Amino acid sequence: MRQYSAFAVAREALRYHRGWERAWGNPVPRTHYDTLIIGGGGHGLATAYYLAKNHGITDVGVLEKGWLGGGNTGRNTTIIRSNYLQPPSAAIYELSRGLYEELSQQLNFNIMFSPRGVLMLAQTEHEHRAWMRTAHANRLAGIESELVGPERIRELCPIINIEGPRYPVLGGLWQARGGSARHDAVAWGYARAAADLGVDIVQKCEVTAIDRREGRVAGVRTTRGTITCNRLCIVVAGHSGVLAEMAGFRLPIESVALQALVSEPIKPCLDIVVMANTVHGYMSQSDKGEMVIGGGADGFNNYTQRGSFQHVEETVRALVETFPIISRLKMLRQWGGIVDMTGDRSPIISRTPVENLFVNCGWGTGGFKAIPGSGWATASLIANGADDVAGPFSLDRFAVGRMIDESVAAAVAH
Ligand SMILES: Cc1cc2nc3c(=O)[nH]c(=O)nc-3n(C[C@H](O)[C@H](O)[C@H](O)COP(=O)(O)OP(=O)(O)OC[C@H]3O[C@@H](n4cnc5c(N)ncnc54)[C@H](O)[C@@H]3O)c2cc1C
Repeated sequence: MRQYSAFAVAREALRYHRGWERAWGNPVPRTHYDTLIIGGGGHGLATAYYLAKNHGITDVGVLEKGWLGGGNTGRNTTIIRSNYLQPPSAAIYELSRGLYEELSQQLNFNIMFSPRGVLMLAQTEHEHRAWMRTAHANRLAGIESELVGPERIRELCPIINIEGPRYPVLGGLWQARGGSARHDAVAWGYARAAADLGVDIVQKCEVTAIDRREGRVAGVRTTRGTITCNRLCIVVAGHSGVLAEMAGFRLPIESVALQALVSEPIKPCLDIVVMANTVHGYMSQSDKGEMVIGGGADGFNNYTQRGSFQHVEETVRALVETFPIISRLKMLRQWGGIVDMTGDRSPIISRTPVENLFVNCGWGTGGFKAIPGSGWATASLIANGADDVAGPFSLDRFAVGRMIDESVAAAVAH
């Protein structure tokens, strides 16, 4: 595939942009692949890319029922950070954050990574102590994050109401190298690079059944025919339970709607990401000037991609008290995604009771930041049968009680 570059933009400008190639093909699915991946979101596409790039496995098909990134990957609020509490989480999220830093160059696709810094406010004594503990844990894990006081917060974010009508801002956990990236571009960049290495990316191809023979997956039935495979990996976020049921086992996953909204665009006034967990809301400003706002997940299981009205109200109320200057902004759009929640709020990257079937799910409200690291680790697990980073996230932790408790890190949707 021809390189994207400033020179290429100039060349195409001179010939009316008639020379651009398709970013990825539109193949008719073959009847057999060595490795099949169900789900064309960020995690599925990154897994396909690293299978080809790191392990030379290119006989791979990615089956997506809709369009690439049409699930949570294209619906999230794009916060990237790695300041998690537990060592296994710190390892995978920091691997991911590090990969994000060079992803545009690696994929030759501008994913618009913006390391603008992420600030998590502490608005109760309890929260302050929790962030202090996380800051210490991060230092031990070699992750840059620091506990900051109200004065520093005032400098970082002049529009915050430090005194607050309900909860004063006592401090915060600041990760200067966290930030955001363009979500669609992450999916498109991985898709283009994977396709360039020989991976088939098949859109509008829904998996409707999984065929098993003698304890192994033989293949899948899809809306575009039956496809056999040697290995299968399910990477479908909120639909993980549905796909696992097709394969004959259950996952400890609950699916709920999580929602976000954006305001009309305004002049630049917020150049970091701020999360206010106690009042429950978070906000950043997009390059276009819109305030990108995220709130909590629904308190009941559902498969709707809309979310409930009460969360919009709660989130807006929380953010108006944290940032009073937004009180007269008009909201432009609201949407929801179906997220896959585990009991310990950590993901599952694992083998399954079916011998040649792998699963990657349980990223809940925070898997966008993990896409590169998760794809890297999942590809290694599929190729080698084991992986150090993926290891702790195996399914058996729920049977033996080896939880990776990140419920504090996931206190607010992120
Ligand atoms: C509103 C919202 C805000 C969020 N904010 C953040 C954030 O700020 N930071 C962060 O790190 N994370 C955030 N997240 C979480 C993040 O978006 C997800 O964890 C991540 O995108 C999951 O990626 P994925 O590739 O696993 O799933 P998805 O992107 O959902 O991809 C799964 C794909 O599987 C496909 N699929 C499903 N069933 C089938 C089938 N039967 N056959 C074929 N294909 C199928 C779907 O169509 C979908 O495209 C947020 C999520 C939401 C909803």
